Amino acid sequence: MREPIPTVTLPSGIMVPALGQGTWNMGENAATARDEIASLKTGLDLGMTLIDTAEMYADGGSEEIVGKAIEGRRDEVFLVSKVYPANASRKGAVEACERSLRRLNTDRIDLYLLHWRGNHPLEETVEAFEGLKAAGKIEAWGVSNFDVADMDELLSVPNGGNVAANQVLYNLARRGIEYDLLPWCQERSIPIMAYSPIEQGRLLHHPELIRIAKTYQATPAQIALAFLLERDGVISIPKSSNPQRVEENRDSIDIDMTDEDWAVIDAAFPPPSRKKSLEML
Ligand code: NDP
Repeated sequence: MREPIPTVTLPSGIMVPALGQGTWNMGENAATARDEIASLKTGLDLGMTLIDTAEMYADGGSEEIVGKAIEGRRDEVFLVSKVYPANASRKGAVEACERSLRRLNTDRIDLYLLHWRGNHPLEETVEAFEGLKAAGKIEAWGVSNFDVADMDELLSVPNGGNVAANQVLYNLARRGIEYDLLPWCQERSIPIMAYSPIEQGRLLHHPELIRIAKTYQATPAQIALAFLLERDGVISIPKSSNPQRVEENRDSIDIDMTDEDWAVIDAAFPPPSRKKSLEML
């Protein structure tokens, strides 16, 4: 029996798993669609019921893959999608959301994010998001790639305080947010969604991670995910198109590391000692 996945509570009170599934690069190629759908379904079976996608990924192809993976089990899933900044106007965001809903083959998105900051005023985007919420097309909205100054500005616009999450680059090799953005969000109970939690695979070759993983009979990916699971209010969304690796990622929940090993990790991947601008992939 696996331990249940810990949860993170959104400002609305809804609880979501702290370990979900990403989908960037899915839907690019018909030959791999079966594996992608099977992987997402495996993740759902294992409780990784938060799925992250975006209109950008494979020009909507990723949303179509997600639509197929959640067919017949929509209510089990917490669905996250994102609007392109260029579409995030008062009217454009509504139209983009409707296109996403069609591709996802559903009537609602649980969390709709502004993918990164663009040229449309935040007031307009928030107004569009609030309208989508009132119409029942989204349950909540949030942002992505917002640094502290962006978050401060967001809170100053009407209804900006309704932001439900900020999705940013966060992993062992990218700890900059621990200096300011992470505590800023934690103090306000705004969850952080950690994207590229295993640095798109690049972390897996780090010698210290490989060594520590061996001592726990674990894999480097599992240690990288265990690091994020230790943090309050952080949801990580690893992407895998391989059901076995999805299962491996799920089993990161069971890793219980000692303080000594966390200290070794801190020495190998030092936390920030000063402000670093938010990095993006
Ligand atoms: P990840 O850090 O999740 O790494 C994904 C890569 O790692 C894939 O190549 C995958 O290959 C491989 N992988 C996954 N699990 C394992 C494992 N256990 N062992 C070995 N290799 C593994 O990177 P992503 O950039 O995909 O980030 C995750 C998600 O975050 C995205 O899919 C997307 O949903 C979101 N994101 C959001 C961004 C934003 O701007 N808001 C930007 C970037 C990502 P394989 O599939 O073959 O297993």
